[in-house]
Amino acid sequence: MMQKLLESKIMQAALEYLKEDDARTLKEHLELVAIPAPSNHEELRAKDMLRRFKELGLEDVHMDEVWNVLGTVKGTLGSPVVMLAGHLDTVFPATVDVTPKIKDGIIYAPGIADDTRALADLLTIIRAIKETGIKPIGDLVFCANVGEEGLGDLRGVKNIFGKENNIDAFVSIDDPLAGSIVNKATGSNRYRFTFIAKGGHSFADFGRPSAIHALGIAIAKIAQFKVPQVPKTTYNVGVIDGGTSVNTIAAKASLLLDIRSDSQEELKRLSVLALKVAQEAVEEENTLRQSEDKVQVQVEQIGDRPSGVQPDDCLIVRIALEATNAVGIEAKIKPSSSTDANVPISLGIPAITVGCGGRSGGIHTEQEWCDPKDAYKGPQKDLLMIMAMVGVEGVQAPMIQKFKR
Ligand SMILES: [Zn+2]
Repeated sequence: MMQKLLESKIMQAALEYLKEDDARTLKEHLELVAIPAPSNHEELRAKDMLRRFKELGLEDVHMDEVWNVLGTVKGTLGSPVVMLAGHLDTVFPATVDVTPKIKDGIIYAPGIADDTRALADLLTIIRAIKETGIKPIGDLVFCANVGEEGLGDLRGVKNIFGKENNIDAFVSIDDPLAGSIVNKATGSNRYRFTFIAKGGHSFADFGRPSAIHALGIAIAKIAQFKVPQVPKTTYNVGVIDGGTSVNTIAAKASLLLDIRSDSQEELKRLSVLALKVAQEAVEEENTLRQSEDKVQVQVEQIGDRPSGVQPDDCLIVRIALEATNAVGIEAKIKPSSSTDANVPISLGIPAITVGCGGRSGGIHTEQEWCDPKDAYKGPQKDLLMIMAMVGVEGVQAPMIQKFKR
């Protein structure tokens, strides 16, 4: 599909540039990882990326309302529009020491791979385009986005796709295995159910409804939920909390519920069901006690990640497979997971999440590491991939179609 592009002088020069730029990319990688960026507190790292985007000469460099940093390489035609993203945030609170330590060529630092390597990949890719003068036909939008990790709830990409935009395809660099391609999005809905009652003495006030009893009834009902194996759908009450002492009728009790599915319908069905059983649990406890005092439930949604599936042989996946294999990385389509691509996938916009440069492990632990050997191959396949998507003047027509909104 992209043989002509791959063999063109200009693409060869750009790929060679990435190899030569490897040491500089590593230097930037180390600088970036040392800037703390917990989810919802990405400001410092966002400002740093904003400066770098400006220095690299991107057009329309700006920070949006939620601190996503964006910049564009304008194409000769301006269509299609492809976004290449890496997330700014890490799972580590600001108190964790993020100073990189190098031992036997391996870099140790919380967040070194997930997803700081992707930010360094973005910078070297921009440089390769600028320095070699390779001319995209469509626009390439580079994005260092906020809020990918748990507490972030994908708020960065939700902001991008939640308002009017002209993005025709989306690629997120966010997997420790360079050859990874994720095309299926596991969605999740997360809730906090808080049961509230009057409480009282367990003996003197016996007969009043209990927040904990209602919570127990709700969990017993949730535990009976039937879910399909395909599309994979799961549920879990992961945390419970409540009560004050053994001889007090509980005035308050809460639970945290996580529902996940590759299917948007299943996600919705289980969420509706969970809300229904919470209400039923309250009614049952109130009926059992027959007291003037009533227990109630408050429902709060604390997580919302949309889901969706694209076939393994869809165009964006085929482009990614070919580009990855072309630079000598073994491409691998991974099982469904939750990434920034969830949001565009749920909207029907072609989107994937791919691996970053280097080899890495210990993700989400303070022992996170990255082996930067041959790390330039990561950006090589990403550059080839996005150039095939937007097309290269005089070499290759855009492979991605304009997305019909
Ligand atoms: Zn990540």
